[in-house]
Amino acid sequence: MSKLNVLSPYEQFLRDTFHADDPGLQRLQAEAGQEGLPAISIGPEQGKFLQVLIQTSGATKVLEIGCLGGYSGAWMARALPAGGKLIGLELEEKHAAFTRRQWAALGLADRAEVRVGPALDSLPSLADEAPFDLIFIDADKNNYPAYLEWALRYSKSGTIILGDNVSMGGRLADPDRQGNPGIQGMRRFAEAMAADPRLVSTVVPYADGIAMGVVK
Ligand code: SAH
Ligand code: MG
Repeated sequence: MSKLNVLSPYEQFLRDTFHADDPGLQRLQAEAGQEGLPAISIGPEQGKFLQVLIQTSGATKVLEIGCLGGYSGAWMARALPAGGKLIGLELEEKHAAFTRRQWAALGLADRAEVRVGPALDSLPSLADEAPFDLIFIDADKNNYPAYLEWALRYSKSGTIILGDNVSMGGRLADPDRQGNPGIQGMRRFAEAMAADPRLVSTVVPYADGIAMGVVK
């Protein structure tokens, strides 16, 4: 999570009371910083939100696109029931190796697996493992529209599709930034999430904003 994120006293109360990282997640984040991974993971509020979604939907098969150091994946994998499975797709070998180590250290290796490579190369090979119950998109923003197409292909009625960072750090609707490929990708993703007749969608304004759609 961004170190620039300054919490109000109320937000700090909520974090301490509902959303605190336990020592395992604290260690993951500390080691990610020591190894030079960028501080761009979700925050604990969103981690807990993902857990609530997994529990309320009874999800057993989760797909994550963009793992970084495994922080969001650890939150999600912990919410899975016995026999549940999370598959994470990650471009960078260094990030994937770190994630694998952390998930093993947290006792999640039996239910969480990371596959290395550009997600658009890995996605076609997941057909046998679909449909997924929850799909969390959090990788390169210019490819979000394509990830949404794959997510819909790998969904069934009730599947929850999420896309992180809708606000793009507050720049999504900045008239001076509309030439940026990441902003363009996120806008097209948001518009598709909102308009696709297969989805009922909203944006949950946690942190940088998470688009959330449920497949009808
Ligand atoms: N979900 C993580 C944060 C992910 S940050 C968390 O909240 O803890 C975005 C990640 O997407 C980075 O690790 C980056 O290497 C990865 N990424 C970027 N482009 C990608 C691509 N084409 N395919 C798969 N992963 C990609
Ligand atoms: Mg993100």
